[in-house]
Amino acid sequence: MSHDVAVVGGGCVGLSVTKHLTERTDLDVAILEKEHHLAQHQSGRNSGVLHPGFNYPPESKKADFATEGTRRMKEYCAEHGVPCEELGVLVVAKTDREEAHLETLAEQAEANGVEYEILRSQEAIREHEPHAVGQAALYAPEAASVDSQQYVYALAREIQQRENASLYTGHAVSEIEHTAAGYRIATSNSDVEASYLVNAAGLHADTLAHQLGVGEQYQVVPFRGEYYEITPDRADLCQTMIYPTPDPQLPFLGVHYTRRTDGKVIVGPNAVLAFGREAYDNTDVNPADLAETLTYEGFQKLLASKTMLSVAWAELNKSYRKRRFTEASQRLVPEVRSEDLEKSYAGIRAQLVSDDGELVKDPLFVERENAVHILNAVSPGLTSSLPFGEHIAETLAAKV
Ligand SMILES: Cc1cc2nc3c(=O)[nH]c(=O)nc-3n(C[C@H](O)[C@H](O)[C@H](O)COP(=O)(O)OP(=O)(O)OC[C@H]3O[C@@H](n4cnc5c(N)ncnc54)[C@H](O)[C@@H]3O)c2cc1C
Repeated sequence: MSHDVAVVGGGCVGLSVTKHLTERTDLDVAILEKEHHLAQHQSGRNSGVLHPGFNYPPESKKADFATEGTRRMKEYCAEHGVPCEELGVLVVAKTDREEAHLETLAEQAEANGVEYEILRSQEAIREHEPHAVGQAALYAPEAASVDSQQYVYALAREIQQRENASLYTGHAVSEIEHTAAGYRIATSNSDVEASYLVNAAGLHADTLAHQLGVGEQYQVVPFRGEYYEITPDRADLCQTMIYPTPDPQLPFLGVHYTRRTDGKVIVGPNAVLAFGREAYDNTDVNPADLAETLTYEGFQKLLASKTMLSVAWAELNKSYRKRRFTEASQRLVPEVRSEDLEKSYAGIRAQLVSDDGELVKDPLFVERENAVHILNAVSPGLTSSLPFGEHIAETLAAKV
């Protein structure tokens, strides 16, 4: 098979890149997706929250993509029949330090043009969420809950209607070789020749990039996020979405409550080292992946930090001891009991770590003469997927 562009990875990012590329150029684009069904990894295993942009510093890529992404996703979902509900989010502060950080979030919201209100009492919090407890909260009405799997399928349906796009599922890319004409891509199915390459392989993007000598100073470290579901009879404990005040030192937002578009309320995710890039259960181990992580100097340096070590220990406990997970959940909604929580699904974040032990917090892509490698489509990657994919499509189209 031969195509102008090969996009490796049919998650929300790869599909969005393809949507925008095929909309604005005549390039013949092939998406190579290893799974037989879409949305099997990050794009279908997340909280499904559209983050309107108050969590990110003004003028950062994250802020721009999230703010614009929230608006565009809502329009897209309305147009394509994807369930999406603008429920609003409450970010709850339990301590003076957290309350002070809410001011930073408010400033960011102001600068990024995101609607918000600061609630300064327990009574004001209760008006939004009768069971949430805190001393203050930031309320952002534009946050929304979306069915991320249906979004992925809507993108795929739209693309499949285009004459210049082909979606190949069940095509796991094993090897990419640079040739005079572009790339030769070996897959578990037929091989593909392409003049241009977009690497949007999520949890495996670094492995493929390394084959071409790209991004060798980084490695994906897989962090699993587990969810519990509140039993239906207790689901009224959360009406909308309740988040803790994030710790600015950490890349993850902390265990939160999300009312999904199907009415279920999920609690999570924690953030624990996964013993494999696709080790979704806490008993799953992929020895090769695990060895790769444990021997990676960036990971070793990350764990040398006392803060990280204590966070890692606390998160590990939340994974293996339900009592610890319940305690974290009770911080926001004290009425929730262990018996109200039933184990649900898990997702794995493709967290990029650098050789010097830094967690890469911003979206990161690396350009080559005829390729773009997306190494870090970090959260809120779902929210950002439309403008981010468009940006990558423009970047690639400029090379043609
Ligand atoms: C637990 C969790 C909660 C999150 N919550 C939110 C949230 O509430 N809001 C938000 O905005 N973002 C959230 N995110 C982030 C968001 O889900 C991701 O940023 C986004 O889905 C990344 O999309 P992607 O297309 O890059 O990755 P993926 O969805 O992982 O897609 C990559 C695709 O590449 C395929 N692939 C990999 N290797 C190969 C190969 N060798 N050959 C062919 N195909 C390959 C995979 O099968 C996969 O389909 C969350 C993420 C996680 C894990």
